[in-house]
Parts: sequence; C-alpha cells; structure tokens
Amino acid sequence: MSDMSDYSEQQTVITSSSNQDIKRLRSLHERKYRKQTGWFLAEGLRICTEALQKGFAPQRLLDEDGRQTDPLIADLIIACKKAGGRVLPVTRSLLVKVSNKDNPQTVIGAYQQFSTNLSEIKTADVRCWVALDRIRDPGNLGTIIRTIDAVAADGVILIDDCTDPFSVESVRASMGAIFTLKVSHCTSEEFITFKREFKGSVIGTALQSSVDYRTADWRAPCIILMGNEQAGLPTKLRQACDQIIAMPMQGHSDSLNLAVATGISLYEFLRNQSD
Ligand code: SAM
Repeated sequence: MSDMSDYSEQQTVITSSSNQDIKRLRSLHERKYRKQTGWFLAEGLRICTEALQKGFAPQRLLDEDGRQTDPLIADLIIACKKAGGRVLPVTRSLLVKVSNKDNPQTVIGAYQQFSTNLSEIKTADVRCWVALDRIRDPGNLGTIIRTIDAVAADGVILIDDCTDPFSVESVRASMGAIFTLKVSHCTSEEFITFKREFKGSVIGTALQSSVDYRTADWRAPCIILMGNEQAGLPTKLRQACDQIIAMPMQGHSDSLNLAVATGISLYEFLRNQSD
C-alpha cells in the first residue's frame, strides 16, 4: 500500500486538449502512432491495477483530478513515477477526449508494448498457444486474448497481417488480459518453419474437416490454429497441422464466430487436461 507522502506533491491540472502530452496520448488510437512510439493505452483502474500486479507500470498516467487520494490510484502514481513515467492530472472532459468514450474510466495508462520472438517459444515450456491467421476484428482478438487467459494458456501467435492486439478496442475487449499472456508475431512461412522444430501438436480448425473436435488428441503441448474470419485457413497452414478438427454445425449457419470457435477449442483443451 502507498505512502501518502509519495503522491501529495501538487501538480498542475491539464485542461487543454492542445497540450502536447494529451495530443500524443490521443494519437495512440491510431496504429501508425502506436508503431512509432511502441506504446498503447489501457483504460480503467481495475485493468491498470492488474497490469501493475503483473509488473507493468504506466509510462504516462492520466488521472481525473480530485481522485488522487484513492489508494489504488496512489499506487499507480507511485509506480509510474518510479518507472520514470509522468503522471498527468486532467479534467473529466479531457479523459473523455483521450478515451473517445462518453463515460470514460477515471484513469488511463500508456504502456510499453511487448512481444515474444517465435524462436523463444520452446516446446518444453509450451502448454497451449493459440495461433491466429490474419485475424481482422479487434473485438474478436480481445475476446480471444481474454479466453486464453481464462484457461491459463500461454499466449497468442499472430500470423501475417493481423489486427493490432494493442489497439484500444482489442485491449478493451481483452478486459486487461493482454497483460497476462505473451504475444508473438510472425509470417506464415516463419510459422511453418517453427512448426518443423515444435515437438507438440498443431491442431487446426476448419469447417471442412470430418474430425469432430471432441475426438481429437488434445494433449499438451499444443498450438490451436484458427483461420481468418472470411477466408478460413489457407492450404499452406492446413498442411502444417497435425490434426484438423471441426465443431459440428447442426443448424442453418455455416460457421461459428472465430472467437466462439476459439473459446470452444480452448475449453476442450482444458477439459482434456483434467481427464
Ligand atoms: N468462410 C470461412 C471458411 O470457410 O472457413 C469461415 C471462417 S470462420 C468464420 C473463422 C474461423 O473460425 C475458421 O477459419 C475456423 O478456424 C473457425 N471456425 C468457425 N466455425 C468453425 C467450425 N464449425 N469448426 C471448426 N472451426 C470453425
């Protein structure tokens, strides 16, 4: 818990949207600036506090003026300063502007992005990863990240041109789970090369498969490979799979939503670990 003296020093409240720090933080809604700065935004006291518990201190912390005595906010302020970051007290209307939401949270943090190189993923350390081929929808990606965390799987591998896991929409949909797992980026060729060395199984998912997902070999270590929302898995990635499974479609729809299909696969993996 925080020592009050650490955050009692007065800071000028920022009120103008033309303030340089505010402009920079607002620009993090755009992928181009997230790439340039290597930062991303996470909103809300709960998410920022959980990030801190996982060892992530914000580089910048926007907090609503008047709320600094909240002990959790005070802890974030101390951690931000200790990490060499800056605390920026702002008015509520500026929080609205930075978050782009009418009803924003009381704190917004800007954090350093992180990534694991594919070559660092060693079979012996793997329980379960999810690999996503060209995922487009940030809501789907955030939901999948949240579900990977729910089953305590290792992380997500983003293959080829994917939506950004550090976008505000994806981080929101992940409910902060982005801070709890590893994120790796690669091309499909790199994934195929990696798979040659990987001693576990790669389980692909495709509507066309005649293998019911409940009959697959779900032993760890494994990588669950999911296809793009529109196109599904391309042949070259299917060929890298040890098994390809399908969830039966018994109604009128021809496919499940990608995040739902990933959730079903992850929970089938989990169920098989406890058998
Ligand atoms: N038109 C695409 C196709 O033919 O594959 C549909 C793609 S689906 C919306 C997106 C991804 O979710 C698929 O590539 C697959 O990984 C997974 N998926 C969705 N429904 C599935 C099912 N019933 N069985 C297996 N995978 C499924």
